[in-house]
Amino acid sequence: MAEDQSALEETLDPEDWDAMRRLSHRIVDDAIEHLRGVRERPVWQQMPPEVVAAYQENLPDAPEPLEKTYDLITRNLLPYSLGNIHPRYWMWYMGSGNYAGALAEFLAAIDGSNVGGGNMAASEMDRQVVGWLRAMMGFPTSASGTLVSGGTMANLIALNVARNASAGVDLRREGVSSMPQMLRFYASDQAHSCHGKALGVLGLGENALRKVQSDSRTKEIDLSALSMAVAEDRSKGIKPVCVIATAGSVNSGAIDDLKAIAEFCEREGLWFHIDGCIGALVKIAPVNRHLVDGLEHADSVALDPHKWLHVPFEAGCVIIRDAKLHRETFSVTAEYLEEFERGIAPKEYLHAYNIQTSRGFRALKVWVTLRHHGIDKLGRLIDQNIAQARYLGELVEGSNNLELMAPVRLNIVCFRFRGDNLSEVELKRLNTEIMLRLQEEGIAAPSDTTIAGRHCLRVAIVNHRTRREDLDLLVEEVRRIGGELIAEASAPTR
Ligand SMILES: *Cc1c(COP(=O)(O)O)cnc(C)c1O
Repeated sequence: MAEDQSALEETLDPEDWDAMRRLSHRIVDDAIEHLRGVRERPVWQQMPPEVVAAYQENLPDAPEPLEKTYDLITRNLLPYSLGNIHPRYWMWYMGSGNYAGALAEFLAAIDGSNVGGGNMAASEMDRQVVGWLRAMMGFPTSASGTLVSGGTMANLIALNVARNASAGVDLRREGVSSMPQMLRFYASDQAHSCHGKALGVLGLGENALRKVQSDSRTKEIDLSALSMAVAEDRSKGIKPVCVIATAGSVNSGAIDDLKAIAEFCEREGLWFHIDGCIGALVKIAPVNRHLVDGLEHADSVALDPHKWLHVPFEAGCVIIRDAKLHRETFSVTAEYLEEFERGIAPKEYLHAYNIQTSRGFRALKVWVTLRHHGIDKLGRLIDQNIAQARYLGELVEGSNNLELMAPVRLNIVCFRFRGDNLSEVELKRLNTEIMLRLQEEGIAAPSDTTIAGRHCLRVAIVNHRTRREDLDLLVEEVRRIGGELIAEASAPTR
């Protein structure tokens, strides 16, 4: 009877484990070749229509051999990736991954743990990784933290704690309508867009974020403007609660004066948050760590291991100085989530520090990346990128038809190709076309931005594969394409 029954029962395990082993070995071999050969391939290529069409296929009902599924991945997915694993990818701001971290992703899924909480090694590792990142930031062991999907969530969590700690009412129970006063947060006009979004999510509205002007040259927050904004809001009955300092702006890598903001917040009784998604990790870079002096004084800091630590996406982290306030913001009591001293339920759920309940085991890829490469080398790679950015800045300044658009403070270089007697509109059209041709020809991937009203190309070097020769090539190609476009424009039209 029992035997008959088991013949009917199904499982997702492979029918033939040995065949699965052979396929798995092939996938790992291919993955290694894929990464080893990345420099020889174009940075990016446009998907042909048949590939786009492959993603319109209907929901599968019958099973398909994994060989066939894998074949689709090798044909229709891997050749058409974003490009950020390539040495000449410098768009926006993102890391380039690492092989050991990728293996860890696989092993995390094999372990399969839900790291919302439980008495298991994965939870211990999650705590250890948060502790390591906390130590890298120079925070005391009494500070808390949590791993999240990325910087947006890390900032949201920190601003949530700051809001609850400052409102003067029990926001968790009573909600924002119970607040006697409007709350105000401050950040420079260079701050990332995620902060306004976070304040919207937190029910305060984007207008609760007051953008303070930045210095026209350095792009750091103007401290006297900040001080005036806070005083003005107070006089109007608005409650200033938090300054969001940017340590590494997306536009140009500008770093606000962290020590001065720390003192200002101390004096004014404000929460000092740092968006360190770009620059916080400079703390581990031996040559440049002084650039983020003062970071260790913050009440909270958001950082992004999937950027300058090259942990495969997604991995963000927030560190909060006052663990009690952190816990009060997120811990829950529920009859189905009791805590225990014995057995599988934990002494403390990790979701007490996070919005999520179930959580993936992202700690493993951070742990493996840190152990395998060691923070000395990871720090040197950050210095290497900063040195490369300065090198590119010099190449630009040494070239008569290129113009540097902002000082190179960190690893972001903003520049443009310039032609004689061209208006801003024409320059924007010209540089946009240069950017698109570089991308479409698979040569290099810069992005663009506008600084002080002037459009430019933007190269953010967060890439452990970039070499100086790649930057030489970039400059050469920008000049070639720029020259060709100018010649095309001035050719007689027929
Ligand atoms: C990338 C970034 C963010 C957002 O982080 P995600 O990991 O993309 O969610 C926030 N602030 C700054 C300064 C960033 O560079």
